[in-house]
Amino acid sequence: MDHFSYQQGILHAEGVDLHRIAAEVGTPFYCYSQATLVHHAKVFTQALASVNPLVCFAVKANSNLAVLKLLGEAGLGADVVSEGELRRALAAGIAAHKIVFSGVGKTREEMAFALTAGIHQFNVESDRELLLLNEVARDLQMKAPIALRVNPDVDAGTHAKISTGKAENKFGIAIDVAPSVYALAQTLPHIMVRGVSVHIGSQLTSLEPFRAAYVRVKELVQQLRASGVPIRSIDLGGGLGVPYVSGGSEPPLPLEYGAMVSALFADWDGELIFEPGRLIAANAGILIGRVTYVKQAARTYIITDTGMNDLMRPALYDAIHETVLVKQRDTAPTSVSVVGPVCESSDVFVNDVSMPLPAEGDLIAFRSAGAYGASMSNSYNSRLLAPEVLVDGAQFSIIRKRPTYAEMLQDEQMPEWH
Ligand SMILES: *Cc1c(COP(=O)(O)O)cnc(C)c1O
Repeated sequence: MDHFSYQQGILHAEGVDLHRIAAEVGTPFYCYSQATLVHHAKVFTQALASVNPLVCFAVKANSNLAVLKLLGEAGLGADVVSEGELRRALAAGIAAHKIVFSGVGKTREEMAFALTAGIHQFNVESDRELLLLNEVARDLQMKAPIALRVNPDVDAGTHAKISTGKAENKFGIAIDVAPSVYALAQTLPHIMVRGVSVHIGSQLTSLEPFRAAYVRVKELVQQLRASGVPIRSIDLGGGLGVPYVSGGSEPPLPLEYGAMVSALFADWDGELIFEPGRLIAANAGILIGRVTYVKQAARTYIITDTGMNDLMRPALYDAIHETVLVKQRDTAPTSVSVVGPVCESSDVFVNDVSMPLPAEGDLIAFRSAGAYGASMSNSYNSRLLAPEVLVDGAQFSIIRKRPTYAEMLQDEQMPEWH
């Protein structure tokens, strides 16, 4: 569910006509609905109420400080994958004891910062990382709380570039070697074993891969406890998919996911952590651009002022975002390709989609862009980063401003010998 809908033929974000924002902010821009973000946080948390979850929002999905603050106030913690994300979560007021640190390549400096901040746990992805963390904690005279991220070798059935739980992926520790790494952890004086974690991929559209992974994790936990490893927390990761285009695949609802988890972990006496990202943010955001040209060539190209640097998902994952005109037109639908201005053939939002032909100057919206949109954006082709706007009812506020061209240039300098 989201709060982007047509009112008298014009797409609104909650109560705000998107033309109003475009007039003030310019295009392109990201626009988020506060009501949708908060609703998603509540729906997910309530679906898991019976297991009293710690829900840690995956910051990489949308790392804007205002969004993090909102979600923090809605009760969520944070799942971070870098010191930068950890600093963001803390700056947004999320308590350190609700933050977990994931990622395959944590550095010594990142570990020290997170230990000093007092985070909830490190999700450790290799024996090498475990040894380094032990050293860093020793130097600080601390004990690092850890879970080992295990790789259960299940096929998430999602796009290859967002699958993380197969044996050939770089993530986690193979589940059958995990017991030996726990045994190692037990010998390290500056490591405190808390739990097990798993995350098998993103945009999952079926419950089965989750269930398969969770059953394996449960078996592992029983085995570990039986051998004296004090496991008291299981982190079940994120990955629940969202509907991107109407008529496309319908992922399971949070309620269905919650029912599956609750049944599987009904007898679990410890903590359960979840790391949803996309589910919370994707459908709470849209990207708005303006049609610069309508070019008639082999195809009819709608050339917009937003491109793959603003929204990488189509170029990176073959993702399709539902593309609509902000002001509906009653011209007959025609087959068009919607593209950006970036000098790459992959800078295509969608090919051969049927829509009413827009006029140059019309606003165009790419829906479900609230996750892995702005957070992945970059300034390739020396394009300015798109600003972000948050809507609440009839009001809107800029939560990341568009940089100026002067700001874009200011950090670069000639070499001293020039
Ligand atoms: C990216 C990521 C998530 C969030 O995935 P979503 O599909 O956005 O829910 C959760 N946990 C880890 C470890 C991740 O890398």
